[in-house]
Amino acid sequence: MKRPAVFMDRDGTVNEQMGYVNHISRFHLLPGVCQAIRLLNERGFLGIILTNQSGVARGYFPLTLVHEIHAFLEEILKKEGAIIDGIFFCPHYPGGSIPEFTRECDCRKPGTGLMKKACNSFDIDMSRSYVVGDHFTDLEMARRCDLDGILVKTGYGLGDLTYVLPHMPIKPCYIADDLLDAVKWIIQRDEEKC
Ligand SMILES: [Mg+2]
Ligand SMILES: [Zn+2]
Repeated sequence: MKRPAVFMDRDGTVNEQMGYVNHISRFHLLPGVCQAIRLLNERGFLGIILTNQSGVARGYFPLTLVHEIHAFLEEILKKEGAIIDGIFFCPHYPGGSIPEFTRECDCRKPGTGLMKKACNSFDIDMSRSYVVGDHFTDLEMARRCDLDGILVKTGYGLGDLTYVLPHMPIKPCYIADDLLDAVKWIIQRDEEKC
């Protein structure tokens, strides 16, 4: 059976925007995130993280750190009774220094490669799915996938809302205080639709 999904950005949406999370000590969950993901679990939404991690290609941190951080995230959530269904990341960057990851790709957001990967891994009801992120590139990816995008004011969100989005043709369908606010809005809107 198809399930709706919430495609979440990671840095600035799930955890504090710290620049590059180049050490596990810089990974701090934002308030309300466990509750938000628990709500998605309860309501039958898939919770999927799509994240650019170009620091790998740039040589700022190894691929193993990305996996370590994601295992850490899943562990924190599990303790709070919340489950992330999938995490997909792009380690690439065209101007990187690690040859293996230095290239143009279609998975670096706003490219749609990560979304396509997620769609190949799960049976997703795209008509009820949303993208949530703190950066205009998250909204641009949503547009390219023909999904509604929600901007959170955490991370880069408030700055992008103030200085970037007024000059762009893309509009979020909702501006949320944080991930929890976004998820509550999604659930309410989904109930109204059904
Ligand atoms: Mg972000
Ligand atoms: Zn990529």
